[in-house]
Formats: sequence, structure tokens, C-alpha cells
Amino acid sequence: MTDPRIRKILIAGGGTAGWMTAAVLSKILKNNYAEITLIESDEIGTVGVGEATIPQIGTFNRTLGIDENDFVKATQGSFKLGIEFVDWGAKGERYIHPFGAYGLDMEGVSFHAFFQKYHGRNYGPDTAEQYSLQAVAARRNLFMRPVNAGNSPLSKIAYAFHFDAGLYAKYLRGLSEARGVTRHEGKIADVALDPETGYIRNVQLTDGRIFEADLFVDCTGFRGLLIEQALNAGYNDWSHWLPCDRATAVPCESAARLTPYTRSTAREAGWQWRIPLQHRIGNGHVWSSQFTTEERATELLMSNLDGKPLAEPRHLRFLTGHRKKFWVKNCVAIGLSAGFIEPLESTSIHLIQSGVAKLLQMFPGGGFNQPDIDRYNRVTAFEYERIRDFIILHYHLNRRDDSEFWKYLRNMQIPDYLADKMALFESHGRIFRENDELFNDTSWFAVMIGQGLRPRDHDPVADVLNAEETAARMTNIRDTIAKAATYMPTHEDFIAQNCDARSYVAA
Ligand code: FAD
Repeated sequence: MTDPRIRKILIAGGGTAGWMTAAVLSKILKNNYAEITLIESDEIGTVGVGEATIPQIGTFNRTLGIDENDFVKATQGSFKLGIEFVDWGAKGERYIHPFGAYGLDMEGVSFHAFFQKYHGRNYGPDTAEQYSLQAVAARRNLFMRPVNAGNSPLSKIAYAFHFDAGLYAKYLRGLSEARGVTRHEGKIADVALDPETGYIRNVQLTDGRIFEADLFVDCTGFRGLLIEQALNAGYNDWSHWLPCDRATAVPCESAARLTPYTRSTAREAGWQWRIPLQHRIGNGHVWSSQFTTEERATELLMSNLDGKPLAEPRHLRFLTGHRKKFWVKNCVAIGLSAGFIEPLESTSIHLIQSGVAKLLQMFPGGGFNQPDIDRYNRVTAFEYERIRDFIILHYHLNRRDDSEFWKYLRNMQIPDYLADKMALFESHGRIFRENDELFNDTSWFAVMIGQGLRPRDHDPVADVLNAEETAARMTNIRDTIAKAATYMPTHEDFIAQNCDARSYVAA
């Protein structure tokens, strides 16, 4: 009888997805005797963008035993406390969507309820910022990691990173190869299926080399060489809700201040990202070809840089959505081959991390088990859909009249789940996190109030504190946060003291 255990794993593709997958599988499966091979093609290259993350990446790096300062140095990294949204609700408005929670839940009631009760309906997009240490610190270019300081907000600082994606993949490659992953350079030309089962048997390179495996992980990027071209997984296209389908990216010289946040500025038919790294700033314009031209999109990007461009602008195309099935037979798609949602909330690298985590949760022991595969597909689709809804929220909640793009997004029919979430908030400011959806109530709150949605009334449970008590506690929270920020060094000083890339020595 043949041994049903997974003995050979082949990862097709060596971008961020391929190397993140290789790094984790080689660590967690080290006692399972699985041989891990990765094939990548220098000729094809990687997508080469993707530089902002969310806090969950810290867990990923810790799982791999990565020293955080070493990683930040190696990747020219900087720290991220949230995202500043400029001109999204209306031109001239700005707010920060910070990591971490706002304020403090009190008497078993969420902070948001007290916020609505205290501030009523007349406040600005940035009013909530004073209740978040991350937002206050971001505005003042401050950063430090959390310290053991009891109840102080300094003990709960939530953060993520900006980094050079190419350097990150290189860093993970070093870790993976040290743990036994074998890398082969070459271009996959053919994928052979078993005629009876339809499972992938092997991949063949253009030079004739053949690689067999039990489990194939498709990390070949947008093309989905295995999952789509060989296994015809199908694609759910969401471009009617998220019409941006192009990106133009360019790095530029650093600015005077190293800001500890990503900036997203709304433009007439899309938005522009600004991601500060130690050695340069990453910039890109995500835009819709239905509503503008490449020439105009490039012109807008190039005329809104902080410093001299360091390369020619690169143009990328994408289709927002995801594979109908992420796992088909003996092939799992991770990374861009699985799907793509524009990087407005920096979720793609997280989706890689989450894809690998779920693969491990449902890793085939004694052969492939269809209920495991079905669960993987169901849970992953849910995760994509909920991120999609959160991204649509940013577009839909706009009061801009300067272009057809913004009018279309404001007036379009939105998914039921999102409509329900907005309706619940508009009645009494309530936000519920469903199952394991990625974005929690803090994130929904930040964007909803940041872009002008106001509940008709406050949640009556907030009346557990009377008006005077509420005012006193809200003042106290603001004062505590303002005081905590005075203990924080500047982002530049923190990096200089802990993880200056110029001091990196490769292992
Ligand atoms: P790729 O980088 O495309 O890698 C594909 C790999 O497959 C390459 O190694 C290639 O050589 C190999 N390959 C392909 N075909 C073959 C073949 N025939 N034979 C052999 N090898 C092959 N994510 C974030 O989290 N934050 C961000 O800020 C962010 N910004 C983004 C901005 C834009 C405009 C885009 C498009 C994406 C962004 N992303 C972001 C997403 C992020 O870039 C990707 O999730 C990440 O880089 C993973 O890409 P990948 O490894 O799946 O694919």
C-alpha cells in the first residue's frame, strides 16, 4: 500500500507568498519528514510591491523565531501605527485609522458607546484620535514598543511594519534554506495532472527538469499557474464594487521626517499610497481604468511625491476578487494566485500569513480529506468577503462630487453584509464583529466616523454612567493618553537606537 502521508511539498513561486510559506512550513513541519522544494523564475520576477502590513505580522515573525530588530534592519523597515486617510470623506478632511483600541471599555460597555454619548453628532473626522495613543503618537512622529507599565496605554501599543518586500523575501529565503528548503531556479512550462484523479502529478521546467510532489502550493502570483491554468478553479470578480484595476508605483527619496504611519490620499479616480522606509519612500497610485487614463494617473502620482523619484514608474494590472476555490485536489493557492484586494488596508501579506496558518490547521495527515478542503475554502472565502466589505466602506462613505468615480461609488448598491453593518451603526452606534472577521470594531468605528457616518442616537447602555461621570472619564482618558505620549521617543530616534538599517550585518 502507498503511504498517504505528505512526503514532498512543492512551492511554485518565490515572491513574498512563496517564501513566507516555505519559512513557516519548514519550521512547523520539521519533524514530519516532508521534503520542501521551491521553484522560482528570475526571468518572470515578482510583483515587487507590498510594503505595508498590519500587526498580525508580529505573530508570524515570532513564530519563525525572528529577532525584530534584525528583521527591521534587514528590510530597511520602519514602524506603522495606523493609516492616515486624506480627502476620503470629503476633500480637505483627514483622519487616522489607528491600530489598537480606542479609550477603554467601562462598566462592561464598549468605549464607542460612551464616545457617541459624550460627543453627540457634531464632531470632526479626527475627534476620536485623542482617545488612541497610536493616533496621537502617529501625528507627532513618535514610536516605541509597548513596555510593562500596568494599566498605562504604553503597555498596549499596537504596531506593524513598513518594509522592502524584496528584502523581506530574501530574508525569509535565508531562514528557509537554513531549515532545509531546496530552491531551484527555473520556469515552469507544464503542469501534469493524473488522468484518473485530476491531482497534480508534477511540474516540468522549460529545461526539461521534472518535479513531483504530494502537495503543491501555488504561489505563482496573479497568473495562478497551477490553481487556475491547470485546475480551473474559477474567479469571483468584484470589480463592480471595487473598480480600481491598475496601480502605478514609484519609489522616491526620503523626506525629512520618518512618519510612523502609511498615508492614503484619495485622488480623482483612485488613491495614492505613501509608505516611508528607512532608505526611501514607496509610492503608488491605485486607479480605475474605467474612470481615468494611465497618463493622467501617472501625472498625478509623479506630481505628488515628497522627493526625487528613484526609478521609472511601473504599471500593474489586477482584477479584484478571489478564486472560487483556493484549495483544489492537492493544490493550495496562497498569495496573489489566491486572489487580490487592493492594498488600501494592507491586507495581502496578512492573507498569505492566514492562508499558511489555515493550511497547517487542516494539513493532510493520512491523505487528502474533502471536509478539510471544504472548510479551508469556506473560511478563506469568508475572510476575503469581510475584508472586501471593509474596503468598500471607505469608498462608499464619501461626500465627494469632483468626479464620476466617487459619485458611482457613493450611489452603487453595496453588499448586504455591509449595508447591515452601516445600518446598525447609524441607529445606535453599534458594531459587532462576526465570527473571525479580520477587522474589529475599532477599525470599523475609525472609518465610519472618520468618513462622516453618525448614529442617530447613542446606545442607551452608555447611560450606565451619567453625563458628569462620562465627561470626567472621557477627559481622564484623553489626559492619560496625552501624558503617555510624552514618554515616547521620536520614530527616528527609536530606529537609530534599535534597528538602523546601516548597522545590518547579514547572518
Ligand atoms: P509574486 O510576487 O508575483 O511572485 C510570484 C512568484 O512566482 C515569483 O517568484 C515568480 O518568479 C514565480 N513564478 C511565476 N510564474 C512562474 C513560472 N512559470 N515558473 C516559475 N516561477 C514562476 N500587500 C500588502 O500586504 N501590503 C501592501 O502594501 C501591498 N501593496 C500592494 C500594492 C500593489 C499595487 C499590489 C499589486 C500588491 C500589493 N500588495 C500588498 C500585495 C503583495 O505585493 C503580494 O501579496 C505579495 O507580494 C505576494 O505576492 P506573490 O508572492 O503572491 O506573487
